[in-house]
Order: sequence, then structure tokens, then C-alpha cells
Amino acid sequence: CKIDYQPTANLLENRVVLVTGAGDGIGRAAALSYARHGATVILLGRTISKLESVYDEIEAAGGPQPAIFPLNFEGATLKDFHDMAETLDREFGRLDGLLHNAGLLGRITPFEQYNPELWEQVMQVNINGPIWMTQALLPLLQQSKDASVIFTSSSVGRKGRAYWGAYSVSKFATEGFAEVLADELENQANIRINTLNPGATRTQMRRSAFPGEDASTLRTPEEIMPTYLWLMGPDSAGVSGQRIDAQPPRV
Ligand code: NDP
Repeated sequence: CKIDYQPTANLLENRVVLVTGAGDGIGRAAALSYARHGATVILLGRTISKLESVYDEIEAAGGPQPAIFPLNFEGATLKDFHDMAETLDREFGRLDGLLHNAGLLGRITPFEQYNPELWEQVMQVNINGPIWMTQALLPLLQQSKDASVIFTSSSVGRKGRAYWGAYSVSKFATEGFAEVLADELENQANIRINTLNPGATRTQMRRSAFPGEDASTLRTPEEIMPTYLWLMGPDSAGVSGQRIDAQPPRV
């Protein structure tokens, strides 16, 4: 956990960083924060109006001109991912950072009642889509001198919890896939792969999972950005195949 990390103002200068689920919650904060530290951010998500508002905020703050990439992981095909890679190759020629942040909670419900279609949807958005997107983007990551790939995990991706169903399973798969890929790329020093667990954070998803909770006790997405910046930028070079926490555990 690097919550006390103090990034330099130009930490991500000249880096091209793609953030999925960039329109809301943690992804929105990460996109704004990466841009504030000099990155050219590609804003990927499914609700264009939200991406446009992040785009406007980055422009208004005088950050590097971002790009918007509308994509819904539900229904996205291999062709969509390869078309995306082609577009990014044309525009930028490389990718220096990839924050897999988009996520779907599904339902907190006893497994006996879990709807199979919803299960498939959660697996599609949280793990299958990100896996094939990563495969399509690997050649662009290989063009970078120092590429950081971050998969967003969760505490229920490290220890199973009753009723968390597909969400928990998808996060276990995320941890597993990141380890497999990090090991496979062990000799490619220019690409690192890690998982990042944000911990309890004040967003819409957290509200859905814990409706009765007093949200004012939770850290905001902005407050956990130091770890997000550290793991995306050069100060974490050499760190790969690790499970990182964005904030200390709650007492
Ligand atoms: P939010 O629900 O606030 O944001 C999720 C983002 O993912 C939104 O931008 C959403 O887009 C996008 N998204 C959802 N489904 C799709 C889809 N089918 N295609 C493209 N984009 C999609 O969640 P958080 O910010 O809280 O969560 C961010 C990540 O952090 C997730 O991976 C989550 O699992 C993880 N996490 C969060 C914790 C927390 O306490 N908040 C704790 C542990 C892990 P749209 O706005 O259009 O719906």
C-alpha cells in the first residue's frame, strides 16, 4: 500500500494510459489523476456522456488532450478489441499503461438463487472481456519502454465470501490470470503486470453492495490515488506479479 506516496507533478509525462470504466467511481478519479500528472489518457467505458464529462474536466484543467473510446464489455467481440488496438496503434504507436478498472457487481445473493445469465454477464465484464482486450493490446504494450498493466481485484478475490457469487469468482480469476501473465512475461522487463485491490471506497458499486453503510466512513476514490499513481508510474518499475492494496485495511 502506497497511500502516503508523493508523486511528482510530471510523473506520467509522455505516457499513453488506457483506463476502462473511466466514466465513474474509481476509474474516473484515476483518469483525472493520471492526466493531472501528465498522461495522455484513453477513456474507455460504456456511457459516453460520463466519458465526455471526464474529457471536459481534463481539458479544462489544461491536461494533455485525452481520447474517448466507447466500449461495452457485454457484447464486445474479439474484432472490437483488435479494431481498438489498430486505432491506438495508428494514433499513438504504443501503450504505456492499462488500468483494467471496469467492473460489475452482479447480485449479492445465495448461490442457489444465482441467475446463470447474470453470472455470465459478470464474468464477461470482469474477466473475459479484459483478458481478450489484453491479448489484443499486448503488441502495443511491447512497444513501450515501461508498460504497467493493472488489474483491479477485491478482497473477495483473495478470500471467498458467502453470497458474493460471480463477482468473487471473477476476481479470483483476475488474480490468477495476472499471475499467469506476469510469469509468462518474466523476461520482458518492459512490461509489468500486477493486481490492485482498492479496498472499501465511496462509489456507487460500494453503495449497492452495502446499502446500509455510512459512506462518510469510507475513503473517496481521490484519497486512494497515490497507490494508483505509484503502480502506474516509473517508481514501481520492476514490480510484477504482485498483489497490491491501495489502502490500509480498515480497523
Ligand atoms: P462503479 O460502479 O462506480 O464504476 C464502475 C465502472 O465500470 C463504471 O464506469 C461503469 O460504467 C464501468 N462498467 C460497468 N460495466 C461495464 C461494461 N459492461 N462495459 C464497460 N464499462 C463498464 O465501481 P467502482 O468505481 O467502485 O469500481 C471500480 C473497480 O474497483 C471495479 O473493478 C470494482 O470491482 C473494484 N472494487 C471496488 C471497491 C469499492 O469499494 N468501490 C472495492 C473492491 C474492488 P458506467 O458508469 O457506464 O456504468
